[in-house]
Amino acid sequence: MRPFILDSIFISVRGLTGVGPKTVKLISKLTGGEKIVDALFHLPIKYIDRRYSPKIANAISNKVATFTVTINEHIKAKYKNKPYRIRCSDETGDIYLIYFHAKEAWLQKQFPIGQKRIISGEIEYYHGMLQMPHPDMIGKEKDRKKIEIVEPIYPMTAGLTRKNMTKIIEQSLAKLPKLPEWIDKNLINLKKWHSWDVSLLQAHNPKSEEDLLPNNLARERLAYDEMLANQLAIALIRKYHKKQNGRIFQNDGILQDNTKKIIPFELTNAQSRTIKEINADMYSSKRMMRLLQGDVGSGKTIVAFFAMLNAVACNAQAAIMAPTEILAQQHLENLKNIAQKLGLNLSLLTGKYKGKERSEILKQIKDGSTNIVIGTHALFQDDVIFHDLGLVVIDEQHRFGVKQRLKLTEKGKNTDILIMTATPIPRTLTLTAYGDMEVSRLDEKPLGRKAIITSVIPNTKLQDIVDALKRQINSGAQAYWVCPLIEESEIMDLAAIEDRYKQLYEIFGDKLAILHGKMKAKEKEHNMQKFVNGEVKLLVATTVIEVGVDVKNATIMVIEHAERFGLSQLHQLRGRIGRGEKQSNCILLYDTNIGDIAKKRLQIIKNSEDGFLIAEEDLKLRGAGEMLGTKQSGFAEFKLTNLQFHSHLLQIAHDDAKLILNNDPNLKSDRGKALKTLLYLFEKNDAIKFISAG
Ligand code: ADP
Ligand code: MG
Repeated sequence: MRPFILDSIFISVRGLTGVGPKTVKLISKLTGGEKIVDALFHLPIKYIDRRYSPKIANAISNKVATFTVTINEHIKAKYKNKPYRIRCSDETGDIYLIYFHAKEAWLQKQFPIGQKRIISGEIEYYHGMLQMPHPDMIGKEKDRKKIEIVEPIYPMTAGLTRKNMTKIIEQSLAKLPKLPEWIDKNLINLKKWHSWDVSLLQAHNPKSEEDLLPNNLARERLAYDEMLANQLAIALIRKYHKKQNGRIFQNDGILQDNTKKIIPFELTNAQSRTIKEINADMYSSKRMMRLLQGDVGSGKTIVAFFAMLNAVACNAQAAIMAPTEILAQQHLENLKNIAQKLGLNLSLLTGKYKGKERSEILKQIKDGSTNIVIGTHALFQDDVIFHDLGLVVIDEQHRFGVKQRLKLTEKGKNTDILIMTATPIPRTLTLTAYGDMEVSRLDEKPLGRKAIITSVIPNTKLQDIVDALKRQINSGAQAYWVCPLIEESEIMDLAAIEDRYKQLYEIFGDKLAILHGKMKAKEKEHNMQKFVNGEVKLLVATTVIEVGVDVKNATIMVIEHAERFGLSQLHQLRGRIGRGEKQSNCILLYDTNIGDIAKKRLQIIKNSEDGFLIAEEDLKLRGAGEMLGTKQSGFAEFKLTNLQFHSHLLQIAHDDAKLILNNDPNLKSDRGKALKTLLYLFEKNDAIKFISAG
């Protein structure tokens, strides 16, 4: 049960004065919830200083100012497009209030002649007269203290007024409870942080530019609270997983040994190490929850296969789920010969199988004659029933959150999970998204791969590039041509690729094929297949080739408008080449209008092939949300934290969370109870249920 102490801020803003159903909706849209606490976590981005209050004769133009004035005269507009004016004065001179499209009755009521009013807003000189167009604030003399302030300005949404927002926040702050301190005393002292309520009050009352910076005391503390809640929640979930009994897939290792003899290459050290880590998980009674991070081409698939063999050796089944048909197909191609030699049955199950064909596959999965199932999301439909699913491998995804991972295991009994990602994730982000998992890293490429030569070239040289490409292709090379990304419009992306296809077709004819997301799965596969078997030499594509495609003979990649892609995305794309033993070249074409920073970004790609380093740079340059598309990525969505500035605190929160659960696993101590309140404050309900009652 949520501690009572939080009740005052866990009620809807509906209860506040001046808040109707319309405003409730707008607040909810803006802050992600309609509770007072949601409004409280919505921090200002700017402020307006209304403390400047000169006499009219001394006022400086183009500033925000507050005056006490007497109303002298209402001057109606003579022409339609002219404003309604109100002449006011103090003992030193006149100022005109200017209203366009104003309702006269309202103005008469607001500004009765002869009376005094406080007005605040931006002032300017117009034909030598001081004027204030549409004052932001109007009040009576007694309101002066309330108006002559530094006013915080919040991120807004259409329909909500500034006044409304300010009122809501004011009333919300008045309901702030004093909460017990959950941060470690030493850390609080070291950082000189204030208590939670004082920090929140300060964050809502900026008095200077410094007060708006993410690293000031108030905002830093609030961010830490959020990260601590996040890390503690993840630690609780992780502890729960660890307590869960897994299956014991202990076996003689003969299948793995035989596989080593069958494959035409030696495993890299990183692969062998990772397989050992996986075997240790799977042989033991604990349930495997492991993340396998490895750059494109680092050889994750074969590692996954080794993992699957553990389940199979113990008469259980394994499933590997790929994000697309093409990749599922590719896994099948890669694994089917090995499986055949080992005497194992593979099944492919994707959305394209229907009717009889599908029921036959389902039957084999259900009766256990299939050992390993390769598939897409189709694997997790309700009518797919496994005989005995022991291991789920999920390839190339970052679309699952902590919650969904729990669900994936429900097709089997205490199913082990291996998640593979080719998106190198900076360590800090790994903590927020995969803190509940063990991590293995394939940080080494298979032997015999040459470094890719990357050039950064202005798009004015496009013709030269096409000419060079022609020569290369005539002498047997294969190439990718990646079309520009046009933000927020798939239709325009499509137009761009079709244009480029037509132009290149003039030159390359049937050696050219196209690949984009709007094509039917069959067409895509058809074209991809032709590229794989060498019939097609040049593939014009959108980012759909980003994930997983493996054609060793492809040694050239041209990326148009490289400046529009994220660094990690460029790195992923480039990973499609340099997969064989031949020298590969990547050409990043950029628009000559781009600025220095954009050029610098491209240099990072040119100078490094280390996905982890590139990801760290990308995080620094763009922030986490943009880098990975937070919404669909399963990464924590922070409200008060900006990892671009706060990531150094995440490690502290991570370590602290671990320590806390070691010392006080059921959060029974005073601090433990305070931490429980913290979890409720950030609504970590999924984790709270794992706190033992005992
Ligand atoms: P990714 O990590 O990008 O998914 P893959 O598993 O698709 O990489 O492997 C890329 C290619 O490298 C495959 O053709 C695979 O057979 C090959 N490969 C994997 N491991 C090795 C190795 N140790 N030595 C040489 N080639 C390897
Ligand atoms: Mg792969």
